[in-house]
Amino acid sequence: MVEKTELIGLSKTELEQKLADMGEKPFRAKQLWQWLYFHGETDFDKMSNLSKALRQKLKEHFSITRPKIVTEQLSKDKTRKWLLEFQDGQRVEMVYIPEDGRGAVCLSTQVGCAVGCRFCHTGSQKLTRNLTAGEIVGQFMVARDTYGEWPSPTDETRYLSNIVVMGMGEPLHNPDNVIKALNILTDGDGIAISRRRVTMSTSGIVPKIVPVLQATGVRLAVSLHAPNNQIRSKIMPINDRYPIEEILKACREYQNNDGSRYITFEYLMLDGLNDSLENARELVMLMKKYKLRASFNLIPFNPWPGCLFKPSPSGQVKAFADILEKAGFAAPVRVARGQDILAACGQLKSQKDKIEA
Ligand code: SAH
Ligand code: SF4
Repeated sequence: MVEKTELIGLSKTELEQKLADMGEKPFRAKQLWQWLYFHGETDFDKMSNLSKALRQKLKEHFSITRPKIVTEQLSKDKTRKWLLEFQDGQRVEMVYIPEDGRGAVCLSTQVGCAVGCRFCHTGSQKLTRNLTAGEIVGQFMVARDTYGEWPSPTDETRYLSNIVVMGMGEPLHNPDNVIKALNILTDGDGIAISRRRVTMSTSGIVPKIVPVLQATGVRLAVSLHAPNNQIRSKIMPINDRYPIEEILKACREYQNNDGSRYITFEYLMLDGLNDSLENARELVMLMKKYKLRASFNLIPFNPWPGCLFKPSPSGQVKAFADILEKAGFAAPVRVARGQDILAACGQLKSQKDKIEA
């Protein structure tokens, strides 16, 4: 038997080419695209505006696959978490965080991560492999299946309104698949999440920052976590390769290209390590030096078994936030969501691996 080609994850141009190879006109590719990404259809037989003969041909050559749901948990605060499995048995997790009338789906881009940040549970799992574009898009499609958001609702009515690329993995270590996936997710004829509602978070893989943002038009978040190289290198070894100045220069270039875009700096509050008031002042100076329009996201550290750090006391976080805010930078403290279902980066998968080992 001939191996079938997976349709989810092909770019629009690739899909057109596949159909052209079968002797079909370009508008057929457009119809098929709408079935896949506007209606979320997985059954060729239900694609009613395609002829029976074409449907038959499609069935012979192509497949439409969703990642398999291994477990699904709903937290008391309505945060939902899925453990998903791909065809080769590799697993990642996905989280949905609802807010009033909207909500963000957090997507993974790799199985494991090679960056190895000391505070991150995913980072302690090493890199197994990159996800394909189809596997990245497929995660969001599973969330849509769960919430019944097919056909694609309008911006105003959808619950799954935002995407954050902040799950497992470093997106800029898998740039080609991430670009392809984000362009499918934001395509106006299909899933149609607007680009300004998509935020990609990176640990700072400098040479890829501007190119990937230019190719996708999404928003940038940077996991900064420290105000100077000395502290940052202690918790993020990758800082020796791409130090703070290089990252902030790339951020400046990004804002030169598109002045309206704010950058979010994520900052994990680690007790006694990066949370002094002096550290907050250093951060303000950095922002001024590079003339960055930015806001901060202060993240309470989520401890995991065996980790070396402790979360900062809440009074300290508040004092730290005050300094940033007085200097004109928004600095909300991220509320920990889904704690009863371990909805922090990497935890569900690892627990499950332990149970099954
Ligand atoms: N690799 C990318 C995106 C995925 S990590 C990046 O690092 O930006 C998403 C966010 O989760 C990062 O800001 C990361 O620092 C944060 N994070 C990792 N481990 C955490 C923990 N134990 N508690 C709270 N946040 C954590
Ligand atoms: Fe990788 Fe991000 Fe975790 Fe660092 S924080 S190890 S870059 S997933």
